[in-house]
Order: sequence, then C-alpha cells, then structure tokens
Amino acid sequence: MFDFRSDTVTQPTDAMRRAMAQADVGDDVYGDDPTVNALEEQAAEMAGFEAALFTSSGTQANLLALMAHCERGDEYLCGQQAHNYKFEGGGAAVLGSIQPQPIENEVDGSLCLERVAAAIKPDDIHFARTRLLSLENTIGGKVLPMAYLAQAQAFAFEKGLKLHLDGARVFNAAVDQSVQLSTIAQHFDSLTICLSKGLAAPVGSLLVGDEALIKKARRWRKVLGGGMRQAGILAAAGQLALNEMVERLADDHDNARYLAEQLAALHSVEVDDCATNMVFARFTHSDLKALNAHLLADGCKLSLGPKTRLVLHKDVNRQAADALVASLHRYEKGVA
Ligand SMILES: *Cc1c(COP(=O)(O)O)cnc(C)c1O
Repeated sequence: MFDFRSDTVTQPTDAMRRAMAQADVGDDVYGDDPTVNALEEQAAEMAGFEAALFTSSGTQANLLALMAHCERGDEYLCGQQAHNYKFEGGGAAVLGSIQPQPIENEVDGSLCLERVAAAIKPDDIHFARTRLLSLENTIGGKVLPMAYLAQAQAFAFEKGLKLHLDGARVFNAAVDQSVQLSTIAQHFDSLTICLSKGLAAPVGSLLVGDEALIKKARRWRKVLGGGMRQAGILAAAGQLALNEMVERLADDHDNARYLAEQLAALHSVEVDDCATNMVFARFTHSDLKALNAHLLADGCKLSLGPKTRLVLHKDVNRQAADALVASLHRYEKGVA
C-alpha cells in the first residue's frame, strides 16, 4: 500500500528499530536518560541554541513554546492557516489561557508584517498583551524565503515580540535551500521540529530555545503529563532521524516534482501547486468515491477532497508515483 496522505505515516527504519531495542535508558523525569539527553544536546547544537526538550508530539512542543513564552492573558500572533492555530484543538486557549490572534496568510505562506503590526494591541487594560509572533516553515510545503525570516526577526525585535517557528518540517526547508538548520533557526527565539514526519521516527518532536525557556517548558511538559520516563527508547530513533534521514528529504522533493509533472499530464487532474515534498491537485472526476475505491484496490491511499494534498516520503517514492499515475490512467480509460 502506498499512502500519500501524509509523511506522518512513515515506518521507522530497521536501524531505528535496532537502536530502540538497544538504547541506554534511564528515568527522564529525573534527567537520567542518557539517550534523551544526547538527543536534546544534539538538537540544540544543530539549531545553534542552548537547550532542547524532547516531547511526545509536535502539538505538545508548540503548546509548550506558547506556554513558555506567554502568560495567562497574553496573546500570540499567527497565521490563519497555522498548525498551532487551526489544527491543535485551540490548546493555547484551552490549556494556556493564551489568546490567538490569527492573520490571513499570504499566498507564499508568510504573514504580511504591516498586517501583523496593525494587530499588535496597545498597552491598555482593554487588551490582551501581545507577546509572540509565530511563523511556520514549511507551510503547506512552501519554504519561507530567508530574506523574509530576517525581516520578521527585525520586526519582532523592534516591536518587542518574541518570535517562534513551528518547524515541524523545517528540515524540508533547510534541505530545499541547501542550508543548515542553524541558518534558519538563528532568526527565531524558539523552534519546534517533528522527528515523526519525513524523518521517519515513530514518535517525538523537539522544542529548541534558550536555557530559561526550556526550563519553563520542561515544567509545563510535566504538568501536561508529558514526562516520559525511559523515553530513550523513542529518542534513539530520533537520533537516527537527525543523523541519517535529513539529507534524503531531497529525494522526496524530487519525487514530488516528478509526481506533479506526471499528474499534470493527465486529463482529469489539475495540479495547483508543488512545494518541497507536497503536491496539491484537483481531481475533476465526477465520482470521487468510485475513484477512491479504484485507487485503494490498486494500493494507493489518498485523502481525496476538493483540493487533495499528496505527500511524498521515504515509503512513497518514485515507484509509488508511477503506480498512482498508472492507476489513474486505467481509471480514465475505463470510465471514458
Ligand atoms: C504535524 C505538524 C504539527 C504537529 O505535530 P504532531 O506530532 O502531529 O502533533 C505541528 N505543526 C505542523 C506544521 C505540522 O505539520
């Protein structure tokens, strides 16, 4: 089965399973897990930061960032399409008493800084205190330009805001631009990284920041039930994600371009966009349910909708792209 729905479906590698079985572990809540400690140190160093925190998920890492930067009654500015606004259950409001102020994303995924400036609240008892600007990179597969990151950093500094990056797929952005993680991370006060997407670890994300921020986040992680004891078993896979799975993301980007070209040549598919490891397409077939059943029978799993996202990853490669295109060809012939 080729699963195009997301890069979260990637299976851990054999090397990860072996490393997990052999990992040195301890009680991480006591700070005693050597594998977790090593992963956190490595992530901090790669990003050029003082400290990092291993978390159960990207959602938890983002929530901890918001709760560490903001207090009750504070506000964060973010994109209307931001994962940490739209897809995390309103966690900042529910659990942090932090107000989101979403701003419509530009077509390239960035936030217009004039619009952000207009949304910053004056120091007045009527308003929440605007504390933080949160960006996302990649967003919908799109890479935020490096020049924009520098502008956003200068803007945040001038306005007295902290700047967070939801970098669930920040390594896709780094590989796409042939830059180190630290080149992107240097513009931010904190960032989150998912190990369990294209990097193929089974579980886990990281929050990276300075010592003081990570200390606060570590406390909130415990409060939220995220203290994980012998978590080195998971961190061992995370180490391999950082050491062995980053460079190969370039293959996913190549395969996404390849799939976009192949799909665009089909009669009944319109490709809207292709960026890093994602393709966005419209399937103009009259009966999407029937198409879905046909594709499933041919071993291709998609989340078909008005705008379908297809994600390339280590388990959905060029062979998978060819299988999908061949299946769509057969369907066009059969239905026509
Ligand atoms: C997947 C994702 C997250 C959350 O990660 P989970 O591990 O699924 O909680 C956060 N931000 C972005 C941009 C993501 O794609």
